[in-house]
Amino acid sequence: KKLSSEQVRDMFLDFFHDKHHHTIKHSASLVPKNDPSLLWINSGVATMKRYFDGEVVPKNRRITSSQKSLRTNDIENVGRTRRHQTMFEMLGNFSVGDYFRDQAIAWACDLLMNPNYFGWDPNRLYVTAYPKDHDTKRDWIKGGIPKDHIVNMKSNFWDVGEGPCGPDTEIFYDRGPKFDNLKPGDPEDYPGGENNRWLEVWDIVLSQFNHEPDGSYKPLPRKNIDTGMGLERVVSVFQNAPTNFETDLFLPIIHATEKLSDNRKYVPSMTNRDTIAFKVIADHIRAVTFAINDGALPSNVGRGYVIRRLIRRATVMGRRLGIDHPFLYKLVPVVGKIMQHPYPEVYKNRKYLEKVIHSEEVSFDATLADGLKLLKSVLADVKKSHKKIIPGDVAFKLYDTYGFPLQLTAEYAHEQKLDVDKKGFKVGMKAQQERARKARGNKQAMGIQNDLLVDVKTPSKYVGYHQLHVNGAKIT
Ligand code: ATP
Repeated sequence: KKLSSEQVRDMFLDFFHDKHHHTIKHSASLVPKNDPSLLWINSGVATMKRYFDGEVVPKNRRITSSQKSLRTNDIENVGRTRRHQTMFEMLGNFSVGDYFRDQAIAWACDLLMNPNYFGWDPNRLYVTAYPKDHDTKRDWIKGGIPKDHIVNMKSNFWDVGEGPCGPDTEIFYDRGPKFDNLKPGDPEDYPGGENNRWLEVWDIVLSQFNHEPDGSYKPLPRKNIDTGMGLERVVSVFQNAPTNFETDLFLPIIHATEKLSDNRKYVPSMTNRDTIAFKVIADHIRAVTFAINDGALPSNVGRGYVIRRLIRRATVMGRRLGIDHPFLYKLVPVVGKIMQHPYPEVYKNRKYLEKVIHSEEVSFDATLADGLKLLKSVLADVKKSHKKIIPGDVAFKLYDTYGFPLQLTAEYAHEQKLDVDKKGFKVGMKAQQERARKARGNKQAMGIQNDLLVDVKTPSKYVGYHQLHVNGAKIT
């Protein structure tokens, strides 16, 4: 079955609204309201903390939404993996002390496998569960997941310190052997490991304990469900796309960029440098357009800094495609058109958004030119002194002050048969991160994620929201 992104989004929301009496909550702004612990809204549940911590009781305890979410920790993944965006939409269904595991899993099975909805073949579906969570495993089997498609995963426990927590269970779609990137027998070859073949599409969190200040876990009087399904990933399955980018959510942006480029053509690939540039541009302009529309502005701090970095990275990628003038702003109406159905305000505000982005591009052009001047003089000095290496602190300055990614500096250096001191660059980066961390001070519980998300330059895996979803999860 082939579905458009609009059909997938509506199908999910209608399923929970029409069939299971959830209230549809329109996506909240990417900019958190009254929540200083969070830089960006990074999941559906992040907009509902006051329901989940019991501060407010919603009129209807069943809620569903498609929430715009932004994760700075995934920026470096964009273009490198098949499944990450900076901004994505997270479909979710929520039970604020209403239904629990058995219904959540039964409905998930219905949505995923019933031909009236997704209609996916159960043989393609794998789920992970916390080893001791036998109820969850039983419910999946009852719903039609083959018994040998259930993978025990110790890391499936959602816990961010004090507050509600509990096991979670993740759903993977098997994209088939074509997507295998590991050899048989590789220890990472399992759903949740490093093999792209299994695409994580949905996560269901069963919050049933309170993590007490003394470290103990008390059962919650009312249990909650919180789920997150990546719209772009599901759409990639329905559109048989090799990555999230070859879908109706991104292809129009990519095609518009082709026209602006120096005769480059987009070819689906995981390694082609132009392809990666097209993907990064499509991703970043979308994130930036939405972030600005939601009230953020480019600047040197916090959210504004993230926007500035995204525009700069996309500009540099544009250079790679032979575009040496402001161009990102021209993609704004394309983004607006794609998202017109759920978010008509973006297309409506396009003139304003174009203006903000254009002026940022113009000022970055000047910065880039200054950076290039510095780089050229350093290259000349290094050559004159018969050295072979650009010092790490210079590479870091180019990065930090002039927005030159290390890769770009390295490319200029290689043209002159020189190298870059990457270690020295990392030292500069580490010191800067340490300073930023100190400046932020201590944060607790939900705030943990902020520490990880605030630094746009940390190429880390996301370990905040699901703190225990760390690399190297083992099958037990
Ligand atoms: P991954 O390990 O693949 O990065 P995750 O464990 O960080 O995913 P969750 O925090 O469980 O993801 O988020 C719920 C769902 O949101 C995921 O199952 C996925 O479908 C989607 N999702 C998460 N991060 C991204 C992203 N950067 N881009 C697109 N979709 C995402």
